Amino acid sequence: AKVLGRSTYVGFTQAMNQETRQRVDLETQLRGAAAAGQLQLLYQPKVSLATGAIVGCEALLRWHHPLLGTVSPARFIPVAEDSGLIVPISDWVLRTACLQARAWADAGLQRTTVAVNISARQLLQQDLAAWTLGMLQETGLAPGLLELELTESLIAQDVEKMIATFERLKQVGVRLSIDDFGTGYSSLSYLKHFRVDTLKIDQSFVRNMLTQSEDETIVRAVIALAHNLKFKVIAEGVETAEHCQLLRAHGCDEIQGYYFGKPVPAAEFEALLRSGK
Ligand code: C2E
Ligand code: CA
Ligand code: CA
Ligand code: CA
Repeated sequence: AKVLGRSTYVGFTQAMNQETRQRVDLETQLRGAAAAGQLQLLYQPKVSLATGAIVGCEALLRWHHPLLGTVSPARFIPVAEDSGLIVPISDWVLRTACLQARAWADAGLQRTTVAVNISARQLLQQDLAAWTLGMLQETGLAPGLLELELTESLIAQDVEKMIATFERLKQVGVRLSIDDFGTGYSSLSYLKHFRVDTLKIDQSFVRNMLTQSEDETIVRAVIALAHNLKFKVIAEGVETAEHCQLLRAHGCDEIQGYYFGKPVPAAEFEALLRSGK
């Protein structure tokens, strides 16, 4: 048992060292990514089920590394969070998204909100309201065109502080939505304290909704809950016409997913807007 214990320990240490090496490597590479022009935002349409029109988009970050190829955010966001790089990277994301939304508004295109994902770890290092308001001022974007997507776990970090933060953002008209709704472990009672605009139903429920009645039940319940609390509700991960039909039948307000459109570069998204969608 002793030998087994030690070899297990050695194996664990080796695995950990390799993991640490990979992290350091990614971290070193990530450090220069923004300056090297390797970061890109893609924009995925959010569509009204009532009108079929694009009403907004979500900005999704991509990292194109010359040797590693395109690294998925699921892989590099945790590295950015652990290393503190999340702060300058989020700064780049928010500035780029705001400038892009402002350019679309200035070009006279239809009203299109842009949503930015907020990382939980980032919030330990900076004041979300001050940062957001500062960036709106710097970029000149109308606050009503900006949406922040936050997860339940992020909100649960420090409820008192988040209530104050949300109030400051709501005062100027910034939109707030709760991302991945239904996957966190927080109690529902927090919903009454937060005047968010939108609940975003997690794609895992949408994916299984056609084959598993429990998931359909959850989707219906979230829609009813959101509407009773006067929130709008959007479903993510909508991939088929069947998803779309069922969500419409249940009164969902908006959809986002491959069925209507994948995340695309700014120029392609703008072409979608110009084509009258
Ligand atoms: P998320 O915020 O839940 O974003 C939704 C993810 O689902 C995106 O993955 C999107 O490309 C993908 N998706 C959209 N429609 C469909 C669909 O119909 N089917 C399927 N299977 N997937 C769909 P992506 O772009 O790889 O981003 C993954 C996660 O990385 C995001 O999850 C978000 O948590 C994080 N992330 C992305 N960009 C940023 C960013 O700028 N800042 C921060 N802090 N996190 C980001
Ligand atoms: Ca999101
Ligand atoms: Ca999500
Ligand atoms: Ca997610």
